[in-house]
Amino acid sequence: MVSKKKLMASVATTVALTGAGFMTVGQVVPQLVIQQNVKAASAINDYISNNNIQPVSIQNEEGTFSKWFGYENGVGKPEGVVVHETATPGATARNEVTYFNREWSTMYSYVHAFVDNNEIINIHNTDYGVWGAGQTANAKYIQIELCEVSTTDEFARSISNDAYYIASKLIQYNLPFTPGTTVLSHNDVSNKYGDTNHTDPVGYFAAWGYSMDQFYDLIGTYYNNLKASGSVTNGGGSTSTTDPDTDSSTIKVNNTDGYYVPIVSFDSTGVATAVKSRALANNTPWYTDKTKDYEGHTYHRVATNEWVSDQYIVN
Ligand SMILES: [Zn+2]
Repeated sequence: MVSKKKLMASVATTVALTGAGFMTVGQVVPQLVIQQNVKAASAINDYISNNNIQPVSIQNEEGTFSKWFGYENGVGKPEGVVVHETATPGATARNEVTYFNREWSTMYSYVHAFVDNNEIINIHNTDYGVWGAGQTANAKYIQIELCEVSTTDEFARSISNDAYYIASKLIQYNLPFTPGTTVLSHNDVSNKYGDTNHTDPVGYFAAWGYSMDQFYDLIGTYYNNLKASGSVTNGGGSTSTTDPDTDSSTIKVNNTDGYYVPIVSFDSTGVATAVKSRALANNTPWYTDKTKDYEGHTYHRVATNEWVSDQYIVN
């Protein structure tokens, strides 16, 4: 499944670069078939967006894990989040919480949270480390386990909940969203540090036609929308962001002439308007997935239709 929105954005950007402004929907449609294979459109992310799926809230409860240790940078200083998948078909987040609370001392394994399509259950204070992915990663990261589900709708909801937890934790600890660095799969951890050989959640994702790159898109959207408005959907906008002209990176913004960094939105004719109700805090990092050239500046997208000018980007 391919999103028309994505292609429209792609073509519109190309046209904007030539200075002709945006095209209409009718003009764009014939291009759809040609470009649909360019990159990771995600049917799951589209499903989340099209059905307005919202994450549930995070439940915090005290688990039984009694090994309280800080991260290598100290208590309350995680460096990011590791994404796991339980590999246990049919077990809900509640089932897993019960099991790990009972068995961690014999399995030598524990994580901060379990998530499924219905619940996000946090069972250990994320200021402290857990035993989830080998000693190197345990000293650096918050760790969350995604439970296996059996329908597309359940999978989409579980992914939305997982992304929300991860984005919330990045924001809680004032961490940038840097795919592969502040958010990484257990597979990435195995490749990077070699302490474990687990490859989750890559295989489970693949069974649903999903990938870490697509998951990163969803996390990045939630992260920016949460920072900008406190809501993952930012007023009902799209959560699907991968475009053929994708330009994902993290930028840091600052306005030396003011107390905040202004942002703009683009209307359907390609004209920028200042967003008056919101702005970005000075010296804050933002995940951006797309750029657009307009009146001599390159604008970087930080939310569904909120863009920051290159004149505010600092290194
Ligand atoms: Zn794992």
